Amino acid sequence: MSKNILSFGAHPDDIELGCAATEASLIKKGHTVIHVYVTSGEAGSQTISRNDLRKTRESEARESAKVLGVKEVIFLRYPDGLTGFTEMMRIEIINIIRKIRPEIIFVHETNETFPDHKIVNDLVLSAVAGAAGPWFQETEGEPYSTPTILGYEVWHPLNNFQFAVDISDTIDLKMKALSCYESQIGPTKYDEAFKGLARYRGVMTWKGKYAEVFEVIKSDNILNK
Ligand SMILES: [Zn+2]
Repeated sequence: MSKNILSFGAHPDDIELGCAATEASLIKKGHTVIHVYVTSGEAGSQTISRNDLRKTRESEARESAKVLGVKEVIFLRYPDGLTGFTEMMRIEIINIIRKIRPEIIFVHETNETFPDHKIVNDLVLSAVAGAAGPWFQETEGEPYSTPTILGYEVWHPLNNFQFAVDISDTIDLKMKALSCYESQIGPTKYDEAFKGLARYRGVMTWKGKYAEVFEVIKSDNILNK
């Protein structure tokens, strides 16, 4: 049966860096993936205006989603450079979770040190808890408890991970998706660093030539798999 998978990222490109190849494998198996970007990364330049950068990064995110076969991209457009989250933001994410009713959520891992990434982890986990019970009169939809939550790595490799996925068949799609982010890759070529990391994960986990690794934040039905 086709499952819904919901991935959250602080900025366009975070989801692709952390879990695009695993998502591509799930999409090939017939599952549905939706991306939610909490900010549009519009503060990431000193020379390009916020408005222009927002448009560029959102169109790059849509292109990348097309490459992967992602069904929908949702931009919440909260200000880039988050310093915290509000109750309104939490309610918006509770509503998304209750509407999509995902089998798996991918999100920034719990020990993230980059502030926006850490806040998105806190925000999503707090919304997952809020979505599960008959609370918050202002929210929509029926309570829903997400069975599996996996934390992905971005700029700081995970020290501890509990789950590794062989992505040898979909690493090329991940690289192609990342190449859509022209405004970000520029001279730093960080996509090459992530290919190197995937190769390192593949060798060290014995999973395959390339791998992505995850923090298992929650897995209710691990015994049924
Ligand atoms: Zn980011």
